[in-house]
Amino acid sequence: MSHSYQMLIGERWETGKGEGITVVDPATEEVIGTIPRGNADDVDRAVKAARHAFDQTWRKLKPRERARILYDTGRAIEERIDDFARLETLDSGKPLQLSHKEVLSTARYFEYYAGAADKLEGRSIPLGPDFMDFTIREPMGVTAHVVPWNMPFNMIGRSVAPALAAGNTAVVKPSEMTSLTALELGRVFQSVGLPHGVYNVVTGYGLEAGEPLCGHPDIDCITFTGSVPTGRRVMKTAAEHIKPVVLELGGKSPHIIFNDADPETAAAEVAKGIYANTGQICSAGSRLLVERGIADNLLEALVARSRKIRLGPGMEQPDMGPLVSQEHLDRVLGYIDTGKEQGARIITGGERARDKGYFVAPTVFTGVDPEMRIAQEEIFGPVLSVLTFTDEAQAAALANNVKYGLVAGIHTRDIDRAMRLARDLRVGQVYINEYFIGGEETPFGGYKQSGFGREKGLPALDNYTQLKNICVRIR
Ligand code: NAD
Repeated sequence: MSHSYQMLIGERWETGKGEGITVVDPATEEVIGTIPRGNADDVDRAVKAARHAFDQTWRKLKPRERARILYDTGRAIEERIDDFARLETLDSGKPLQLSHKEVLSTARYFEYYAGAADKLEGRSIPLGPDFMDFTIREPMGVTAHVVPWNMPFNMIGRSVAPALAAGNTAVVKPSEMTSLTALELGRVFQSVGLPHGVYNVVTGYGLEAGEPLCGHPDIDCITFTGSVPTGRRVMKTAAEHIKPVVLELGGKSPHIIFNDADPETAAAEVAKGIYANTGQICSAGSRLLVERGIADNLLEALVARSRKIRLGPGMEQPDMGPLVSQEHLDRVLGYIDTGKEQGARIITGGERARDKGYFVAPTVFTGVDPEMRIAQEEIFGPVLSVLTFTDEAQAAALANNVKYGLVAGIHTRDIDRAMRLARDLRVGQVYINEYFIGGEETPFGGYKQSGFGREKGLPALDNYTQLKNICVRIR
């Protein structure tokens, strides 16, 4: 059944001008609805609504009143977890159980940052008996959030919750491929009494809605999550009006396994690191760096696991769902061809799977040279590139030998070695002996071309506050 979705500008749900953008279920390739094709006018009205709400309501509330609304938001999301999870799965293709986890985590972001709303304290600075000097933290104002399609709802919670907690209002531009949960969040906010205009969603394409948002003179900061080329462009757009930007970009993260690791446990972690969400995670462990002595056992266990993975529509709770779109499927298959052409060897997978939907079999390449494209570029699919090493120094050099620096995973029983590597790897976070660990509380962000700025945890609040110093002369 096809549904015509509307976007939220101020207090109004709007259809937008002209024909909408078609929403496709990636598991069946069926059209499930349309979303509005927002443009610069819509963005302008959304920014005005957000500015009005910032000046007239949101910043005037006591922090504990803002906190109350955000706690209620988290609870309301949890109460509707099944609705949100189904919508996310329908829209993005991800397994229902994964959508559940991501929705829960989104609720948790609201709970976590609600708790911070009334703790954004300044400091006093000693200048001697004749002065009183102190800092206060003020909200930035109107914040822009441009979001990708791989974890659509979760990424919104990650950046909108701290922004609102700190007293800002928000305009969100979700991915044109996965906007449904961003829109549904607007209904939740309305149900818990969030003042109109504090949360606005303009759906549409990057160039037609995203770029006007990032270039709007009346926004105060931008949080962009997406690819490196778009991030570069967003930064240039933001430069026009000198707007601060947080860039959460891609990765080619190393998963490093030493001989002393247990091969079965490590294989399970490697599989999770590359196949979770069909490899469409910025922090996916997409480069396996394995010490020679354990390589055969580990790869044997990994191939066995890869072949057991059940592919299917997200609604059927498979181990792995489809990729998000035909375009992305073509891109991932293109990388598989490139890997073969450049001389790497496929030991499992390597082809499209199932007749319908954008499925790719779990794929492992061995014989990968560090300079090959499949060792350097983000594929964003269930495709693992395996490289071997002979000692710790070589592991570190290989791990750092990419333009990205998002995360790294290490498996070893030698804690000194793990700590030396944690020190030497140029990445924003290190997982030791289990992949994807941490939570809403742990800061996340990139080194090098993976971006800058930190989301999650308390440091994220710095993205959404200005520090003002006030100095008083006492006579
Ligand atoms: P993308 O860069 O194509 O698009 C991201 C968003 O930007 C979309 O909403 C898009 O419409 C919008 N956009 C496109 N052009 C724009 C422009 N000129 N100005 C403003 N907005 C514009 O990325 P994607 O394909 O949606 O997502 C996948 C990428 O996101 C991967 O590279 C992945 O690693 C990255 N990602 C990073 C993180 C992180 O936290 N570091 C998290 C999730 C995804």
